[in-house]
Amino acid sequence: MSSTVTIEDVEVILTQPGQSRLVVVKVLTSEPGLYGLGCATFTQRVFAVEAAIERHLKAFLIGRDVDRVEELWQMSMVHGYWRNGPVLNNAISGVDQALWDIKGKRAGMPLYQLLGGKSREAAAVYVHADGATPDEVADKAQRFLEEGFRHVRIQMGGYGGRSTAMHRPEGAPEGNYFDPRSYGRAMLGMISHVRERLGEQVELLHDVHERLHPIDAVQFAKDVEPYRLFFLEDLLAPEDIDWFKTIRGQSATPLAMGELFNNPREWRPLITERLIDFVRMHISQMGGITPAIKATGLADAFGVRTAWHGPSDTSPVGHAANLHLDLWAPNFGIHEWYLPSELDYEVFPGLPRVVDGYLYPNEQPGLGIDIDQELAAKFPCEEIVEQWTQTRLPDGSSARP
Ligand code: MG
Repeated sequence: MSSTVTIEDVEVILTQPGQSRLVVVKVLTSEPGLYGLGCATFTQRVFAVEAAIERHLKAFLIGRDVDRVEELWQMSMVHGYWRNGPVLNNAISGVDQALWDIKGKRAGMPLYQLLGGKSREAAAVYVHADGATPDEVADKAQRFLEEGFRHVRIQMGGYGGRSTAMHRPEGAPEGNYFDPRSYGRAMLGMISHVRERLGEQVELLHDVHERLHPIDAVQFAKDVEPYRLFFLEDLLAPEDIDWFKTIRGQSATPLAMGELFNNPREWRPLITERLIDFVRMHISQMGGITPAIKATGLADAFGVRTAWHGPSDTSPVGHAANLHLDLWAPNFGIHEWYLPSELDYEVFPGLPRVVDGYLYPNEQPGLGIDIDQELAAKFPCEEIVEQWTQTRLPDGSSARP
C-alpha cells in the first residue's frame, strides 16, 4: 500500500490571455511536485468563485486524501448546506477536475483511461461562423470546410441577430436590443440560404440562445426541420423547459440544451423523457468531471449524446477535461471548439490541437495540460461590467441574454 497523499494547498489562478476571464484551480499535494489543475471558470463572476475557494473550500480541503475524489465532491457540495448554485458548483469543479488530474498522474495514465478507455481516437468538433448577412455566414462556413471542419454553427449578427426595424419608445435606455420575432424570420432565411449554398455534406448547427418566446420556439423548430440541422441549441430558457414536450411532438429537429443548468433536476427529465438529443452542460458549472460522468451514463441509457459547452469561457483546462470525457463516452456527440490563439497554447502547455476537424489528446498522464503561471500573471482579469448580458426587448424591458 502506498502512503496517503494529501491536499497541501489550493491556489486560485485568475487570468485573461484572450477575451474571456478564466479561473483555474491548482491543487498542491504532500508529494513534492505533484499537483493537479481544474477549470472553475464562471467568467462573469470570477472574483466570487475565487472567494468561494479561498475563503470557504480551501480550509475544508487541506489535509484531505487526494484519492477520495467522489467523497470530497459529495462533501464539498453539502458542506455549505445550500447547494447547486453556479459560484459554488464552479469552485467545486476546480477542485474536482484537479483531483482527477492528480489521480491520472499518480496512475501514469491519461484521464480517459481511468474512465474506461477510448471509444474513439479523437473528438469531432464544431466551430462558430458569424456574419452580418446570409452570404457572409456562408462564406465563413465555407472557409471552415476548406480547413477540414465538417460541423459549423451558423449565427448572424450575434445572438438575437440585428433587427432591421427596432421600434423603441422614447426614453428607452441604451443596451443590447433584439426583437425575437424579427430574429426568428432572419435566422430562418439565413439557415435556408447557407444550406442551399453549401449543400447537404456540411453539418449545420444553430444556437437560439433562448431568444424566442416558447410558442415561437415551437414554430421555429418546425420551420428549420427541412434544413436537417445537426442540432438546434438552447431553443428555450431553463425556466421554460416544460415546453420541450410540445416541441418534441411536432418536429424531428435534433435538440441540444444545458449550458445554463446547475442542478441535476434540470437535465434529468429532459434525458429520461427523451425530450432532447444532446446534453451540453458547462462542465465546471455542473460541478466538474464527477457529475459529468454520471450525466453521461444517464444520457447513454436514454439514447442522448454529449456536446459539452465549450466556447472561450471554458478554460483550456476545461477543454482538456471535456476531451477526455469525449474520448471515453460511448454516447459522445460533438465537441464545441473555440479556435485558441497561440498565446493560449503558451499559457496552457498541452492544450489539445485540432487536425482536420478532429481534436486529439496528447497522451500525457491526467488531463495532460499545464499552466505557465508566470506568463498567466501577465494577463490579469479585467474588472468590467458585462455589456452583452444587458439585453433588452424592443420596448426597453430586460430580456434573458
Ligand atoms: Mg450556447
